[in-house]
Amino acid sequence: MRVIIGYLRPFAKRMGLGFLIKVAGTMAELLLPYLLSYILKDVVARKSMEEILLYGGIMILFAALALACNIIANRMAARVSCDFSERVRQDLFDRTLHLSSAQCDRFTVASLESRITTDTYNVHNFVSMMQRMGVRAPILLIGGVLITLLMDSYLSLVMLATLPLIFVTVYLISRKGVPLYTRVQKAVDGMIRIVREDAGGIRVIKALSRTEHEHARYDRANRELVGCETRAGVTMGAVNPVMTLLMNGGIVGVVALSAGRVADGLSDPETVIAFMQYFTLISMAMMSVTRIFVMYTKCAASARRIAEVLQAPEDLPVMAEDGKGPAGRIVFDHVSFSYAGRANDVEDISFTVPAGGSLGIIGPTGSGKSTIIRLMLRLYDADSGRIYIDGRDVRSIPGPELYAMFGTAMQQDFLYADTVEENIRFGREIGRESMEEAARIAQADGFIRSFADGYGHELAQKGANLSGGQKQRLLISRALAGRPEILVLDDSSSALDYRTDAALRRALASERGECTVVTVAQRVSSVKNCDCILVLEEGRIIGSGRHEELLESCAAYREISESQMGGAIVD
Ligand code: ADP
Repeated sequence: MRVIIGYLRPFAKRMGLGFLIKVAGTMAELLLPYLLSYILKDVVARKSMEEILLYGGIMILFAALALACNIIANRMAARVSCDFSERVRQDLFDRTLHLSSAQCDRFTVASLESRITTDTYNVHNFVSMMQRMGVRAPILLIGGVLITLLMDSYLSLVMLATLPLIFVTVYLISRKGVPLYTRVQKAVDGMIRIVREDAGGIRVIKALSRTEHEHARYDRANRELVGCETRAGVTMGAVNPVMTLLMNGGIVGVVALSAGRVADGLSDPETVIAFMQYFTLISMAMMSVTRIFVMYTKCAASARRIAEVLQAPEDLPVMAEDGKGPAGRIVFDHVSFSYAGRANDVEDISFTVPAGGSLGIIGPTGSGKSTIIRLMLRLYDADSGRIYIDGRDVRSIPGPELYAMFGTAMQQDFLYADTVEENIRFGREIGRESMEEAARIAQADGFIRSFADGYGHELAQKGANLSGGQKQRLLISRALAGRPEILVLDDSSSALDYRTDAALRRALASERGECTVVTVAQRVSSVKNCDCILVLEEGRIIGSGRHEELLESCAAYREISESQMGGAIVD
């Protein structure tokens, strides 16, 4: 909660003002039953119409004041909570963007999403509730009890005796009910996940006739949600009736006792009427205080989850340089790494790529190809061994400087709903010429120009209105447009036909200049012309060299090559 309090500090003045207005409104509300009993008891007895009208007018004034103050304070509270949660959400989002890949793995993407959405919403609700009920309820409760004590302490004590009963009942039901709502939230998350997966993979689902299966999966998630919601609704549905029962029981008790007291001349009917009103106010306040306690538990859990992300330590600190490393644009020196900290996912990887050279990495799925790229980009730190870029340990290069050296096209990169031009520029200051040149090398210029609006053509979300090959060519254009020193193509031409892939490789070879190119591929034809090819299997290099050398020296490479093209490779 300390983090949340820190975020509330800049709003202290606005909250203070809202607090004062709320106090004024609640005080006015609190005085209404007292005024009523005073009018009934004293003013009416004096039989002065003028006085009745005057006090009636004062009552209306107080009621209007209470209404106006409550509305103003509630509106101020709503604005403060919205502004507050906007800042929390923004910072949480920024921090999420800066989390290291290992931290993202630990938190999981789904959990990060729900921290930004559901958890900030819970905290927002609590902050808003505290400003409204958190001020009003204690004043009504304490003020109401004090006034009734002054009016008739005996009746007041009777009334007070029923309050713990209300507190305990509402607390127990809510304590059981609120976790059920947490389960509802989880069930909603599960259902949304299925909708997302199915919406994204709708074509595959249809193509593989999985519609029935997905229907059943959604049905299960939907029924789970209905079950959770019903349990939560049934449990919490008991709160109001039980509250009303207890309140009415209390009122009956007060009336029954006061009948005797009125008969004995120890009290009067007007006081009893005021008492009944105070009793209702106090009981409602009691219920609000109880709910605040329960909401606090929920908010504290969300605040903890938010703080975990906001306070996540810098995972990949920039280290001081410790002298010049080996020559070469990219050097891996006996690098090993494990995601889970158990068996190595890549082991003892060593290679050197000179400036302007090209490296190909080939191997079956899961053999560690992308992991090498992630280590190169320092998305993770190696567990042992060292990685150098231009003779500098990758850990000593500040993130922005390191990323600026690379142009990267990954298989699962995303395109967003905007023009082709903006998707290539990707928010960078890139001139038209560089952009078109990049698209030409990436073999994208032709199909882009075939659109009536050319580079101004609007893409659908995730580039859904493009073919797989077109998407990949745009992603490669994006990677090239920044004129990087190192171009990384991670399985990013798998959807291109052999001819286009060959044209891309030819254009890269002739126009890349001093740019070093690293190509990860499943196809031999995509890496065949590289200066050096690494063949990976289960995280280890089982062969390295030029294409012709590997055909001689590496059986696995020869096998892949022959199985793919029968030995014939498109150039
Ligand atoms: P490739 O690119 O060759 O298909 P990867 O480098 O993606 O293979 O994966 C190598 C190994 O690391 C695989 O066993 C894979 O399951 C594991 N792996 C990849 N990414 C993660 C991750 N984020 N968390 C845990 N294990 C991972």
